[in-house]
Formats: sequence, C-alpha cells, structure tokens
Amino acid sequence: MTVNLDWENLGFSYMKLPYRYLATYKDGQWQEGVLTEDATLHISESSPSLHYGQQAFEGLKAYRTKDGSIQLFRPDENAKRLQRTADRLLMPQVPTDMFVEACKQVVAANHEFVPPYGTGGTLYLRPLLIGVGDIIGVKPADEYIFTIFAMPVGNYFKGGLQPTNFLIQDEYDRAAPNGTGAAKVGGNYAASLLPGKKAKTSGFSDVIYLDPATHTKIEEVGSANFFGITADNEFITPISPSILPSITKYSLLYLAENRLGMKAIEGDVLVDELGKFTEAGACGTAAVISPIGGVQHGDDFHVFYSETEVGPVTRKLYDELTGIQFGDEEAPEGWIVKVDL
Ligand SMILES: *Cc1c(COP(=O)(O)O)cnc(C)c1O
Repeated sequence: MTVNLDWENLGFSYMKLPYRYLATYKDGQWQEGVLTEDATLHISESSPSLHYGQQAFEGLKAYRTKDGSIQLFRPDENAKRLQRTADRLLMPQVPTDMFVEACKQVVAANHEFVPPYGTGGTLYLRPLLIGVGDIIGVKPADEYIFTIFAMPVGNYFKGGLQPTNFLIQDEYDRAAPNGTGAAKVGGNYAASLLPGKKAKTSGFSDVIYLDPATHTKIEEVGSANFFGITADNEFITPISPSILPSITKYSLLYLAENRLGMKAIEGDVLVDELGKFTEAGACGTAAVISPIGGVQHGDDFHVFYSETEVGPVTRKLYDELTGIQFGDEEAPEGWIVKVDL
C-alpha cells in the first residue's frame, strides 16, 4: 500500500480522495456515469435541491478482509432504499445495477484508501442524488446528479465498544407522522440539528426521538435505529412509518434470530416500559452498534445494562455483524459483494 495514513486514528471527517463517480439525468434518462477527479459540483443557483430539499443520500462501507481483498456489505439494499426515497421525492430511480457498479468503481479507483484489516477502519461511501437545473417554482427538477464519493473512516469506538447516554426531548420531532421520516433525505437531518445540539450541550451523545403522533413510543436516534434486548431472549426494534429503515437493523434482526437463537420482533417500544429491556443499543452503518447506557426523559433517568459496561448480547451481535462485514464469519447469501481490483 502506497498511501500512509494514521489508520488507527481516523475519525469521521471528509477527505478529498482522488476519484468520485458522477452521472447526470437529462431528457428522461441517465447519461453514462464517469469517474472524475473534480470534487466540486457545478449546479444552477436555482436547483430545487438547494431551495426545496429535493435531494437524498445513502451511506455504506467497503471493508478490507484478512486476505487483503475488499468487499461491500449489502449495497443492493442501499440501492433499493435510495429508489424508495427517490419515489417519495419524485426523483428518478438509480437502477440497482448502476448503483452497485458505481460503488465498486469508486472503491476500486480509491482502493489504496481502504484501511488495512485489523485497524477497524473502513472506506465510507456517500451516494448523493440531487435535483438540479433552472427551476424556481415548487416542482420536481428535470435534471439530476447522482454522485458517490468516499473517505476512509475510523473505528467509531477507538477503545472498544462503549455505552453512552441519550436524551429524549418531547418538544422536538425529527419527522412528521406521514412525512419523510422513512426517506433518507437531508430535510430530516436539518430538523434534527437543533435538538441534537441541545442534547450534546447537555452531555448526551444524541437524541432518541419518540413517535411524532403520540410521543409514547420510541422511534429512533437521529441517525441510527433503536433496539432493545429482553430477559426473555427477545430482540425488539420499533416499527413505524416515520422511522428510517436501517439496513444494519434488518441485518441484526436476521442475525439475532438465525445466529443467536433469539426471538426477533418489530413492534412498539413504549417509553413507559423501558424497564423490560436488559440491554439497548443504537445501530447504523456509521456507528455499527452503539450500546445505550442510559436514557434521560424529563426527570427520569433510566439505565439499561450499565453506563460503563457493554451487555453480553449487544457484544455478541456486534461481533457477529462485524465478523461478517470484515469477512471473518460466513455471510448469509447475498450479503457480501466483492470489489475487483
Ligand atoms: C442512515 C440512517 C440510519 C441507519 O441506516 P443504516 O442503513 O443502518 O446505515 C438510521 N436512521 C437514520 C435517520 C438514517 O438516516
């Protein structure tokens, strides 16, 4: 490897890599995508993505295995989710083949930036779909840009898995009951910046949002889904049309049932019934699994397993998932896509 970075101490920061993928949609169809060295987008000042939030993004990682090869984890699921998001925002779908092929091209072109096996680092891919062009009225764009850039990111927990505390704030929602909560769009994140800042200022790692209609059920963390473990060997994760369907979450539901012999359930998680959970965590591509120590809700502070120790089931799930992602454990059919160099 010719690139020499401090692989053990990578954070989650933008890094301008040599290549990114760029395709444009014009006259009702996708033009041939290319790899480009230009890291700047040139778009009309009136682009609907800038004014009315007609944009979507994705997030996935490429992993270096023990034998030095590189692989993607379920990229077809990211493609399908981006298609559902595109439908919700009246944007053209990026076909699954085009999406996965573009991911492979970006990883292969920047392969020297995929962190070595054993450092915990990965190459994070950020696909972006935006409406562009000279339209100022509130309507969908005629032209779109689909781009994927990449950056090496570090292990989320440098010193190993570590529980952190989360805050529930009744005065904020991240999404409306029938809004865009299930779509991976920037607008949901815009709504979460202020509550997120308040939580962080008060010493919490992030916000846990309740269902926007009744504020009685846990929905998710601002950028990760919630799960709880019960003493009856159940893995429970909330179900709601305003939760962003996390691919990590669905992977854990499968692994809990098929590898850990648990009962995997998507159902209501009442904020008044947190006592039934012996462990809890937040899951997503960036954080993988983030154990939840305690949750503050009004004057009530509830600790799940421990504020300092990671529960045994959370650790097993983490080891199983990351074992598959880094190629140490056998993957369920179709979960791993190799990148040819
Ligand atoms: C992307 C995202 C997640 C995590 O989804 P993964 O597919 O597991 O990465 C969870 N919640 C929100 C709001 C997200 O945007």
